[in-house]
Amino acid sequence: MIIKTSGLVFSCTDISEKDGLLTIFTQSEGLLRVFAKGVKNPKNQNAKGALVFAYSEFVLYKNKDNYVLSECSLKKLFFDLKNDIKKFALAEYFCDLCMELSCTAECADSVLTLLLNSINFLCNGEVEEKRLKAIFEMRLLCMVGYAPNIICSHIESEKKFFWSFEEGIIFCQKCREKKDDSHFVYFQKGVMLCLLHVFYSVLKKAFFFEVSEEISTELSEICEKYILFCLEKLPQVLKIYKDICKNLERTF
Ligand SMILES: [Zn+2]
Repeated sequence: MIIKTSGLVFSCTDISEKDGLLTIFTQSEGLLRVFAKGVKNPKNQNAKGALVFAYSEFVLYKNKDNYVLSECSLKKLFFDLKNDIKKFALAEYFCDLCMELSCTAECADSVLTLLLNSINFLCNGEVEEKRLKAIFEMRLLCMVGYAPNIICSHIESEKKFFWSFEEGIIFCQKCREKKDDSHFVYFQKGVMLCLLHVFYSVLKKAFFFEVSEEISTELSEICEKYILFCLEKLPQVLKIYKDICKNLERTF
């Protein structure tokens, strides 16, 4: 069977001197491992389209569960990432989340769109990194089935909000008084408004909103807490990204 699809190359593992095994996040199938003959030779016609962080159009042969690269043509290469270790680490984290959170073929198209937009904003610096990371985490979680249920109808009037990760619900102080469970994460109203914007805006608008530094920090902390809860572990790539951030802070 022949499959034509676009996708972003996450990695290329050496199989031999000239052949590689590509990990590609594709628009139609989600994550695929694809055997790519000859791509490590820079003169090979598919070499450019198979580079890491290349967004390319692929023609693949599928035989049972094995995929073999036939042709690929480069649409966009996010080469700026290679020059910035912090941005590169964050992009690696985005890719890692797409692998860890088992995105099915049904949500592959929207996940790829989120990924390409986020990496594009990361390269051109149009969206601040802290915010970009939080929005990517939250939108991805919603796409793969971890969207929290907002059970509260007092958002206008209340100032304190709570999130029960275990139950997957968000509610206010008033709603809380009716509950006896104590495993809530608290956050203030500004964060609630940001979350609503991130959950319900069209993708391109989700990245843009006016917010204070304090709220922005709180938003990024709660998004990270939630993704760590969903993953049930701290991904190695996230640890690397945070170490790089810390070291750069020390340098300046
Ligand atoms: Zn309420």
